[in-house]
Amino acid sequence: MNGNVILVGAGPGDPGLLTQKGRWALEQAEVVVFDRLVSPAILALIPPQAEAIDVGKESSHHLVPQEQINQILLEKAQAGKRVVRLKGGDPFLFGRGGEELELLQAHGIPFQVVPGVTSALSVPAYAGIPVTHRDFCSSLHIVTGHAKAGAELNIDFDALRRTGGTLVFLMGVSALPKICRGLLEAGMDPETPAAVVEKGTLPRQRKVLSTLQALPQAAERAQVKSPAIIVVGKVCSLSDRFDWFDSLPLKGKEVVVTRPADRSGTLSERLRQLGANVTEYPCIRTVARDPSPELDHAIANLSRYRWVVFTSPVGPRIFFDRLRTLGKDARALAGCKLAAIGPKTASALSHRGLTADLVPETYDSAHLAEAMAQVEGPVLLCRASQGSDALPELFSKNSIPFDDVPCYDTVYEAPNPAAVLDLLKQPVLVTFTSASTVRGFVQSLPGADLSMVLGCCIGRQTAAEAKKYGIAVVVAREATMESLIECIKEV
Ligand code: SAH
Repeated sequence: MNGNVILVGAGPGDPGLLTQKGRWALEQAEVVVFDRLVSPAILALIPPQAEAIDVGKESSHHLVPQEQINQILLEKAQAGKRVVRLKGGDPFLFGRGGEELELLQAHGIPFQVVPGVTSALSVPAYAGIPVTHRDFCSSLHIVTGHAKAGAELNIDFDALRRTGGTLVFLMGVSALPKICRGLLEAGMDPETPAAVVEKGTLPRQRKVLSTLQALPQAAERAQVKSPAIIVVGKVCSLSDRFDWFDSLPLKGKEVVVTRPADRSGTLSERLRQLGANVTEYPCIRTVARDPSPELDHAIANLSRYRWVVFTSPVGPRIFFDRLRTLGKDARALAGCKLAAIGPKTASALSHRGLTADLVPETYDSAHLAEAMAQVEGPVLLCRASQGSDALPELFSKNSIPFDDVPCYDTVYEAPNPAAVLDLLKQPVLVTFTSASTVRGFVQSLPGADLSMVLGCCIGRQTAAEAKKYGIAVVVAREATMESLIECIKEV
């Protein structure tokens, strides 16, 4: 039985500009055939069990010839697969989407098209250029600056000038001098505002604003490279006033997020929205202890405990998974009070229908210990095997009986140190959300020079750990993600 092919536009680069429908298609895919301009964050959505085929094309030499791409799509679909053909921007705008569909259609392969956000409109938008504006123009023309191998540019510059509209050129970096000359020779005003925008919508977006006459020189001085688009028209004069993207607080900043992979999403996303170039570098992972005789024993004797304490959102997850495996549910905690180290941990409890009785004002183990100084035991501590000493020390000192049950282990792992080693040569912010992320980070980069690193730490204990390794630090006012983000904004 035949499979099908969905042609999906991945948008211009900012992963947030992938459409919902594109995302759904990607998540269902069995085979994904993708191009060079698709951003890594979107490629990360490809299901791990799917086959990912990179047919990325460099502008002059095609990595995989078009005919072969068409053939791959056909063969995979004929093998019964759900195929996604993922292309930069919109698949039909200078994307050869049409060519790819011809062979499929001829062979009766079912296909669909998910349009994408094209760079022709979105890159100007991120550069503060509305492609039309009633005061300036009444049309927009999207033109390719790419000539077929060995051929001359085939652009009717006279016709373009006569439209009086905004002109957007794709694939035009190497032909920029020719394009500008063509327009000038056709009689366009040399002072017409014009711009080149490189790596549009991405954290490393750069724009060069100039006039039609001076643009080629300005672009050369700035060493603009592909991918970039050229915009010619009065609307470019608005770019400075509408410069929202370049004005974002973290624009141009390199940030490494060290959280465990399953928990990095929102922090990374928030930082990206603020303009940062985020590299996810999960250097720790939490692994439930299995088997866990201590936890099983504690669960069998829950009615003995007056308090159960969780020191991270992982704790409730592992505790309740185990509870369920043992055939019990939340009612087993009926006689216990619950303490959570912070709001995220409290919310992990409330997702399970339980309200924390105690959350310290400052979200770290020292303050949790302080808040629990007078409680009545016995206390059950459900936490990482390498947890901080603050709680056990306080309970011992105050003669409060307690059981410290290791529910999970923190595993250090180094996914791809090379990517981070490169970043360390320039000023780079590294987020640390626990002392273990500091240890994981340092261990993964033995001998590395950390002098350019500014550790953005969630709390004092984390900062103290970073200082041990000579890392300069800033510390969030409160131990929450919001506060950490505020602290990074102020750097
Ligand atoms: N189908 C794509 C265009 C493919 S042609 C779309 O709709 O966007 C490739 C050209 O698109 C590049 O040479 C460049 O001119 C432009 N382009 C794509 N992504 C871009 C980006 N992030 N920034 C600037 N130009 C981009």
